[in-house]
Amino acid sequence: MIVLDGAVQTSIRAWALAAYPHEAVGFVIGEPLPTLATVTALVPVANLASTPDTTFVLDPVGWFQADAVAQQTGTAVLGIIHTHPDSPAVPSIHDARNAADVGRSLFWLIVSVTSHGRIDIRGWHWDGAEFVEDDVAWN
Ligand SMILES: [Zn+2]
Repeated sequence: MIVLDGAVQTSIRAWALAAYPHEAVGFVIGEPLPTLATVTALVPVANLASTPDTTFVLDPVGWFQADAVAQQTGTAVLGIIHTHPDSPAVPSIHDARNAADVGRSLFWLIVSVTSHGRIDIRGWHWDGAEFVEDDVAWN
């Protein structure tokens, strides 16, 4: 299960709406536990895609930025987060390709966002062959 800390929910919502109608991308950091990860912060990363309304390309410097924030706060990089403007919070074929490259160590949060400000967050992890959905809880 992935737990979203109260303050990070506000950050995710503002970040998703600010990038709309483009996809926003970043990392989430927090406390890793074997069966329950608590997300405490969002580290936004530039989306370098040439078609940012339908896909994302992480700025490679984002990996180092996320690691630095995690080290400064005594936490860990837990996952990749990105938005799906006007489409459901389910992984795309592009996401599956990325996940196959990234591997199993990070989970994926996908944020569906609409022009009306409606947000839906779903969690996933890559099992080596496909995405498997994880429960997301808010506290
Ligand atoms: Zn996606």
